[in-house]
Amino acid sequence: MSHEDEPASRARSGRAGEPARADEGPGDKPDMTRERARTERRDVDKERGEPVAGGVARGGPRALRPSARPLHDWSTRPRILVTNDDGIESRGLLALKQALDPFCDTTVVAPDTNQSAVGHQKTLMRPLRVRERTLGDGSIGYSVDGSPTDAVSISFLGYFGHGFDLVASGINYGANLGDDITYSGTVSAAMEAVINGCPAFAISQEYYEQPDFALAASAAATVARNILEHGLSRGELVNVNVPAVSFEECDGIEVTRLGRRVYQDQLLERLDPRGIPYFWIGGPPPSGQAIKGTDFHAVVNRRISITPIHLDLTGRSLLRRLKTWTWPDPAEAIADVPAPPAAPGPDRPAEQTTERRLAEDRRVERR
Ligand code: MN
Repeated sequence: MSHEDEPASRARSGRAGEPARADEGPGDKPDMTRERARTERRDVDKERGEPVAGGVARGGPRALRPSARPLHDWSTRPRILVTNDDGIESRGLLALKQALDPFCDTTVVAPDTNQSAVGHQKTLMRPLRVRERTLGDGSIGYSVDGSPTDAVSISFLGYFGHGFDLVASGINYGANLGDDITYSGTVSAAMEAVINGCPAFAISQEYYEQPDFALAASAAATVARNILEHGLSRGELVNVNVPAVSFEECDGIEVTRLGRRVYQDQLLERLDPRGIPYFWIGGPPPSGQAIKGTDFHAVVNRRISITPIHLDLTGRSLLRRLKTWTWPDPAEAIADVPAPPAAPGPDRPAEQTTERRLAEDRRVERR
């Protein structure tokens, strides 16, 4: 992959005074013979209700890096790719699209089934099918039989023949706070956008039985506007979490850092109809440490949490410590390794780590 040289050229095309979009560049002309064959095949697919075989035009720029500027200075409406991990039929996805429609051209591309907690999974070992779908508001969207990352990938690899100014992922059923983002398909979709050089945000709604998404939709519009006007730097995205409260109950917006989740997962063992045991990771929903300034603390206190995320996961403090460790030449290192004790003995009680974790848990403020 040559991610290294691309952002620079995008930055050039996004400079003030130049057109915001470079939808057509040299070498983008499709091969018309192949394109016609594709179009015909596509029509047949549509009639049969089968997967759409190809986009209208392929081979456009993979992504754009727009220059941030006030919305009234945009010469055309910003293009926003709307996706999620709950699937194309999610009401949260529709709410997000409808929140952005008034000031953007939205395109919906989402997984065809619920892909929650798939993380940053990318499908490489099987084909992907894209289907045209009619959304709840009568508009056309696209479903992909893959992960949220796949949905973003196909959109930036030329399916639409143009790039996007922003990617919006959500509105997720259930918060994505602290350590959740390492599992979250919602946040991973935004990460995939950032890897493709496009600014992005993820938005999640604290879970409750009948979410109306009105507060979250309003937050989404505010966040989108702010990112389009101020811009994000390379590697950055914004993670938004909305408490399950009404407009009146909401205590405003807080810019936060990631907090620490406390998972209460349990391994449930049951028997299938053939008497063979299976396992299911269940248990109560996660809690967290309600420490001031964190996303968890904000949402617990009925505030909308806005957390900046950076894809550079380098551990700065560990980087400094690692440099003080001894790093012998690999060829000489093998002979020097001392044999570890075979089993836990009195010096290394097996329950030591468990005890420490329990002690830590006592400090946790549960919800
Ligand atoms: Mn989800």
